[in-house]
Amino acid sequence: MKLILFSKALLFIGIFGLAPRILAARSDGCADLRLSKQTLRSTSTGLTSVWVFSEKDFSQGPFVPSSTAEKSHIQWVRQRTSWSSRENLRNGIRIRQKTVNQLPRLDVFRLSLERDIRNLSKVINGSIGRIRPLRCIEGLAFREYLRIADLRSHPQEFQAIFMEKDGVIAMLGDFYRKKPSDIVGTMPSAATLKYKAQLEQKGWVFHAHLHNHPFDFTNTYGDIGGSLAPSDPDLEIYLSQKPRYALITNGIETIEIPQKDFSKFERAK
Ligand SMILES: [Zn+2]
Repeated sequence: MKLILFSKALLFIGIFGLAPRILAARSDGCADLRLSKQTLRSTSTGLTSVWVFSEKDFSQGPFVPSSTAEKSHIQWVRQRTSWSSRENLRNGIRIRQKTVNQLPRLDVFRLSLERDIRNLSKVINGSIGRIRPLRCIEGLAFREYLRIADLRSHPQEFQAIFMEKDGVIAMLGDFYRKKPSDIVGTMPSAATLKYKAQLEQKGWVFHAHLHNHPFDFTNTYGDIGGSLAPSDPDLEIYLSQKPRYALITNGIETIEIPQKDFSKFERAK
């Protein structure tokens, strides 16, 4: 039944003829994953691609980094910090607390930092979302991005939108290399937005939003990036577009935030 649904989905989204194939090597722990890929748009700086797989494969994991680029990225991070993602968030709180202590009680910036601290604390104590190791799909998306962008040169982000129908998932991924002068962050490409709208018309539902928060060891305040908590713009996207899940990864761990938790974050006033 699942295979029939899978084939119907391929036909539905126009890539019938591409047989589902085992994509990943056994060494990354994702050998059972059946995945079909099609490039929607390709430029000199990257590509937008559609990946199709079953809903159960969405949760398959854990992903074991195995390519040279993945190992180099982890080594680059580990040579600079041994913090877990939770310890990294605690560092974010310490940095904000230092500034809070220097500002008047009702200062607007102080109030926004105190709000950040409360939000980060909720992530650390597990009352919002769940921090966990990378799963296969997130790892393979991160691998795709490392083929295109070297995150060690400057912080850069990819993003992916997951649509679901009848137990089949289509991932629309935007993997583009950014210039150091570009604003850090990422928006869906026009190709992805058009494809998403077409799928929605056919009854597909916004299942998940994935993007990465890159590490950055150049910050003079000691913020090392890779923070597994949504920014205010991330939160606006989650609240307005309502994916079932929001996923943010730093290539080592991922935070998974279910839709019911989006409103638990205090928002900017
Ligand atoms: Zn973000």
